[in-house]
Amino acid sequence: MKQVRFKRHNPRMHWVGDGFPVRSVFSYTDIAAEISPFLMMDYASPTRFPPTEERKGVGEHPHRGFETVTIVYEGEVEHRDSAGGGGTIGQDEVQWMTAASGLVHEEFHGRDYAKTGGLFEMIQLWVNLPARLKMSAPAYQGITRETIPAVDLPENSGKVRVIAGEFQGIRGPASTHTPIDLWDIRIDKTTRFSSRVPEGHTAALFVLNGSVRFQDGHQATDAELVVLDPSGTELEFETDGPAKLLFLGGEPLHEPIVGYGPFVMNTPEEIQQAFLDYRSGKMGRFQN
Ligand code: MN
Repeated sequence: MKQVRFKRHNPRMHWVGDGFPVRSVFSYTDIAAEISPFLMMDYASPTRFPPTEERKGVGEHPHRGFETVTIVYEGEVEHRDSAGGGGTIGQDEVQWMTAASGLVHEEFHGRDYAKTGGLFEMIQLWVNLPARLKMSAPAYQGITRETIPAVDLPENSGKVRVIAGEFQGIRGPASTHTPIDLWDIRIDKTTRFSSRVPEGHTAALFVLNGSVRFQDGHQATDAELVVLDPSGTELEFETDGPAKLLFLGGEPLHEPIVGYGPFVMNTPEEIQQAFLDYRSGKMGRFQN
């Protein structure tokens, strides 16, 4: 049975651009070594936006050395990058962008959603790349709703949507560079959840809403992250009523993490090079 190592909660919200009111659940400046390969997690809890013709979000900015994974729960996100990737993802869809050697991109509310307004809820994860792949070519995966398989849980207690990796033999659509499990878990009623996970892998559970309890007595509720011990293969918890959860699992990289702003590499020299390459336009630029 996996034990809880620690819990994280950040009550403070900040804005990313003018579209994303997020809480930093963790970042590469704090627990990244303990939650490898995940580097950062921002959670935009449900926020209602009024209808607008304006573009709300964050304009052109670079990334190098990792992947950004955006999960939309409510609303719509529109993306464009200098490597040619882009698209709009809506409710229950995922954008998996591999920045790798570098690109610039912009992230805005989708135009249709902006016009009508309404609830917005999103998670953005940064997923590290191993040193050998940090300078590989950028890539983009737009993962639509119907390509994400849903595995029903026993006694009609809910379902697990497999975004990446595997749950009970069912594989998710995301192509990852190292073994990663990313499960969008929707629990409908009080239940006991149990699943096997790989020994030695990072394992963490984020509670978007609801209430979960582990056998060692630890509890977690809205916007709290539970980081479990990598040892052990039995993931088990109980929910008190319905819950919306995200499971993050993966093989840890065990490589140095040196990050600054939008760049995460292995050495300070590589960070300096990233700034030089960005300024000289090597990561691309938009024409407008
Ligand atoms: Mn970005």
